[in-house]
Amino acid sequence: MRAFNFSAGPAALPVEVLQQAADEMLDWHGTGMSVMEMSHRSREFESIHQAALADLAELLDLPENYRLLFLQGGALAENALVPLNLLGARKVADYVVTGSWSHKSQLEARRYCDVHIAATNEKKAPTPHQAGERIGIPAFTDWHMSADPAYLHLCTNETVNGVEFFDIPHLGDVPLVADASSHLLSRPLDVTQFGVIYGGAQKNIGIAGVTLVIVREDLLDRALAICPSAFAWKTVAAHNSMYNTPPTYAIYIAGLVFKWLKRQGGLAAIEARNIEKAQLLYQTIDASDFYINRVEPAVRSRMNVPFYLADEARNDDFLAGARARGLLQLKGHASVGGMRASIYNAVPLAAVSALVAYMQEFERRHA
Ligand SMILES: *Cc1c(COP(=O)(O)O)cnc(C)c1O
Repeated sequence: MRAFNFSAGPAALPVEVLQQAADEMLDWHGTGMSVMEMSHRSREFESIHQAALADLAELLDLPENYRLLFLQGGALAENALVPLNLLGARKVADYVVTGSWSHKSQLEARRYCDVHIAATNEKKAPTPHQAGERIGIPAFTDWHMSADPAYLHLCTNETVNGVEFFDIPHLGDVPLVADASSHLLSRPLDVTQFGVIYGGAQKNIGIAGVTLVIVREDLLDRALAICPSAFAWKTVAAHNSMYNTPPTYAIYIAGLVFKWLKRQGGLAAIEARNIEKAQLLYQTIDASDFYINRVEPAVRSRMNVPFYLADEARNDDFLAGARARGLLQLKGHASVGGMRASIYNAVPLAAVSALVAYMQEFERRHA
């Protein structure tokens, strides 16, 4: 019996992917072993790896001058590896802060370079979660960049705060670096707008353990000498992600997800479904005074929907009732409280419909 799982990450996977992984667990394609037990240099694993790369490149419509890398360490490791790989001779990097993940990114970068905050939506005086102003993305015309930054970093989907970039600014020659952990592959993406895109897999791509880095080739020559070899993008690229043992099983699962996405019709088709799911949930929240979402409508995330009960004394009651109906992992991130429904690619419309029905029923009972 599968529950409806709204976890922010590690998150729900497509049932078909789990089923195939289970079927192939003990004996992958007649090899007499599981993928976990294979040499990463075997012909069999190489075929899994190459298929994953080819399918991902096809899904992303990846331009020739970009490389796909599979690393370890998650997005948080990349927060350090971005400056270590991109600073070159420069001393300053620009950051845009739109929520807690981009806040963390700039904090980590301060260990390696001077950080200039080009724009932020953080208020000096915090307001209570349910009240206060709406959270948004500062207008591009209000971004103030430093004179010659090594790059500009942003988080294109704030998993905790529910803020998503739908427009991407043009910054001339300054490479844009995006932490896209929680919405990569949720919609078509123009890779050419970015120098680097990175993300952990456990939100929308697969399981924890593999980190995807998409990097423009001309940026591979900027690593600092102190950058660890196993995390130097140029080294990893030169060895086709086989400089050291890659997270083989996590790459295999990501490969199954890429095939599943292709069967769904690719990123444009999955985007249409994601829009439908997000609209249903936001409309339910907006139609009621019982539930509150504080994000400006134009930048509301389609993947992570944080919301509050107007009467927060009912939070535990709400969560217990949800659990009883098989609606799981709806508790908001500890830093912001309230509720959060993460509705990634693998979360079906039926899950959102069940959640919405429960929310309306809970409101009728308590309003
Ligand atoms: C989950 C998440 C992270 C952290 O990823 P780890 O794999 O735990 O390092 C960073 N950024 C964003 C946007 C995330 O959603």
